Amino acid sequence: MDSQQFREFGKAAVDYIADYLETVEERPVVAGVAPGYLEKLIPEEPPQAGEKWQEVLQDVDRIIMPGITHWTSPHFHAFFPTASSFPSIVGEMLSAGFGCVGLSWVASPAYTELEVVMMNWLGKLLGLPEEFLNCSEGPGGGVIQGSASETTFVALLAAKEKTVRDIQKLHPELSEAEIKGKLVAYSSNQSNSSVEKSGLLGSMPMRLLPVDEKGQLRGDALEEAIRKDKEQGLIPCYVVANLGTTPTCAFDKLEELGPVCQRENVWLHIDAAYAGSAFACPEYRYLMKGVEYADSFNFNPHKWMLVNFDCSAMWVRDARHLVEAFNVERIYLKDQHKGLAPEYRHWQISLGRRFRALKLWFVLRIYGVDGIQKHIRHQISLAQRFEELVRGDQRFEVCSSSMGLVCFKLKGDDALTVKLLERVQQRKKIYVIAGHFGESHVIRFAVCSRLTEKRHVDYAWNEFASQADEILGCKVE
Ligand code: PLP
Repeated sequence: MDSQQFREFGKAAVDYIADYLETVEERPVVAGVAPGYLEKLIPEEPPQAGEKWQEVLQDVDRIIMPGITHWTSPHFHAFFPTASSFPSIVGEMLSAGFGCVGLSWVASPAYTELEVVMMNWLGKLLGLPEEFLNCSEGPGGGVIQGSASETTFVALLAAKEKTVRDIQKLHPELSEAEIKGKLVAYSSNQSNSSVEKSGLLGSMPMRLLPVDEKGQLRGDALEEAIRKDKEQGLIPCYVVANLGTTPTCAFDKLEELGPVCQRENVWLHIDAAYAGSAFACPEYRYLMKGVEYADSFNFNPHKWMLVNFDCSAMWVRDARHLVEAFNVERIYLKDQHKGLAPEYRHWQISLGRRFRALKLWFVLRIYGVDGIQKHIRHQISLAQRFEELVRGDQRFEVCSSSMGLVCFKLKGDDALTVKLLERVQQRKKIYVIAGHFGESHVIRFAVCSRLTEKRHVDYAWNEFASQADEILGCKVE
């Protein structure tokens, strides 16, 4: 393909994306295909001779589109949002066009330098403590990782190495293996699956502690768990606190957890994967009170801040802990600029790095702070509207409502809610998933798509109400 053909193909692809997003709301939100559908539509071997791009693009419609679940549809209310916006899509395109791998400063100075500035912009946008920023006097800084899962794992590994060094200073007679075998981590039983997985990957037992009736992890639960482990001769190492849990978007009590971590010399990581974006609006910052105790903080602009997957923002109070844990040098990685800018490869798992800062830059500039705040506030107001509609129907109850997420159920036996969810899922008019609130089965309704408006919320509510009519055999007054 030459550059003239690329111009034509690329422009046709941009038109394809624009047409897709203009019509996405009319498509069934969940893919209607059976497992194995794609294999039947595609040859077993790659073509011997190259094909025309027009034929390939046509096959996107025929082969790929039927197997797409439309996350950008305003009828998508499952999980949490995954962001998509035009500035971000263009940022991805340009990054692919540059085709660099930012494995060191010299490998593409703009990669590192834009990331440093973007992480400062973002940190300021959220109102994070100064010490986390790259522009502060101290050793703190921010980096873009691929996912919250990676970030939780990276922080765990850094905490592990730091704890080994700290303990060996006090007990030089203990070997690294002996110490590592005793380390323990803690989080709440509402944490995302990725938190438990970080413990599995890092060979550190992750205690999933009970929460209060609001789904929040409290200081006394952590204190008690740490006390019991210390009695067994174990060494507390790592705590993951949630600001916005996956089941109900609950906020752990940082003000209580922080002092416990500080006293016990335990690394405190904050997982604000979804709800962190809300701190762009000052009225929600009270929910991160106690953030100054954190050793690391993470949120996903790729969830709720209009930046396409993947873009996970991580800040650390002291980046030296990452570098000490992950620094492996080779002659082919050396360059004479060492020390002037962060060598981000020492802050992450992989060697190669994508130019994620570019799409973030585009989003922050083209939306501006005002545009981002407007987006967050609008989505929260839509969730509040949905909550009002549920509360207005006496057959239903709202179990929790926080940010853009409402968990609700039919009153009475859980089986009714399970049946309602099954019906709604089968009809594919909207997409929602199941959740738990305490012992109850609930339906999780999240405002996800950038394209969601009031009429889509009303549409979703009508779907629930009409299906409840069918199940209960009666209409509400
Ligand atoms: N943490 C929380 C609270 C989440 O809700 C999620 C995903 O929804 C994750 C972590 C995992 O995010 P990622 O897919 O970026 O690893």
